[in-house]
Amino acid sequence: MGLNTQEMYLQGMSTSLPEDVQIEMMRSVPGLENVSVMRSAYAIEYDCINPTQLKLSLELREVEGLFTAGQINGTSGYEEAAAQGIIAGINAARKIKGLEPLVLDRSQAYIGVLIDDIVTKGTNEPYRMMTSRAEYRLLLRQDNADLRLTPIGYEVGLISEERYKKFEEKRRLIEEEIERVKRTNIAPTEKVINFLKKYNSTPIKSGVKLADLLRRPELDYETLGEIDENRPNLTFAVREQVSISIKYEGYIKRQMQQVEQFKKLEEKKLDKDIDYDEINGLRLEARQKLNKIKPESVGQASRISGVSPADISVLLVYLEQKRRQKS
Ligand SMILES: Cc1cc2nc3c(=O)[nH]c(=O)nc-3n(C[C@H](O)[C@H](O)[C@H](O)COP(=O)(O)OP(=O)(O)OC[C@H]3O[C@@H](n4cnc5c(N)ncnc54)[C@H](O)[C@@H]3O)c2cc1C
Repeated sequence: MGLNTQEMYLQGMSTSLPEDVQIEMMRSVPGLENVSVMRSAYAIEYDCINPTQLKLSLELREVEGLFTAGQINGTSGYEEAAAQGIIAGINAARKIKGLEPLVLDRSQAYIGVLIDDIVTKGTNEPYRMMTSRAEYRLLLRQDNADLRLTPIGYEVGLISEERYKKFEEKRRLIEEEIERVKRTNIAPTEKVINFLKKYNSTPIKSGVKLADLLRRPELDYETLGEIDENRPNLTFAVREQVSISIKYEGYIKRQMQQVEQFKKLEEKKLDKDIDYDEINGLRLEARQKLNKIKPESVGQASRISGVSPADISVLLVYLEQKRRQKS
């Protein structure tokens, strides 16, 4: 659609039916009886593998050393292909070097959500990475992508010393400023009272911490500069992190507790040689699914459709028995 065109894009009218059928279909819609079709719809057909055949490293379970990424894994999209491409590339290189694969989990990155989804659940249609698929969205923000992922990039050798030094400096400034804002006392001086009045904020009768004022919805880090006498000169990126970290601290902490719970099950590793048919108490469907997917952890197992919380309890008991036998 546009100012200088009569054409309209028919969102949702995806089809690959023959051209005459498409025109008949369009003209059957009330209001479109006389519509002209400028370019007919078409479909691109391609083959893909079943992504449940992959490990979380994107290596095929049955073909050692073969890593796949992108559309061949049943996804669609530029970012989806790039996200898997970098992981498959990193892990192919690490395999040659005899290193453990890099697996990002669901709480660390959208890449982790994407790969876990396709490997654990498979997909019936081209998979797209929607933000709603991530359960830890308060942590997976674009403003903190560098804080989440630069240390990992550095560890695997993809971040230069120079860039990492700059990153560490930024992280240091953020931490120092958060500490300063939490420490700084604001006294109920005339200037402060006038400031609070100006922003329709409840007046203070005794001294409060600057962080407490920052948590008020009507105030923000930038405006608080008017009464924050010893504020250092910081870049926007640093100021933004300080502001978000303090303002939403309660919510972020709660989500981090959820992540800790999640990690407990992720850390319980399942050996790839386990034969689930031999575990008493697992339901038949769970046995079949677990044998097919071969999850790498109890956490991953819990996300397979058809594996119930009761099956997970059985798995936990089984692991505990194994651990005791060993020790
Ligand atoms: C018309 C169209 C519009 C699209 N629009 C968008 C969009 O707006 N936004 C979006 O996010 N996504 C869009 N997509 C989807 C997106 O382009 C793809 O999902 C993505 O590019 C897939 O990347 P890939 O690397 O997995 O595969 P490809 O980009 O298909 O790469 C596969 C490569 O392998 C090569 N190859 C194949 N066989 C062999 C062989 N035997 N030996 C050597 N090389 C071989 C191919 O030549 C190709 O270069 C669109 C796709 C189409 C077709």
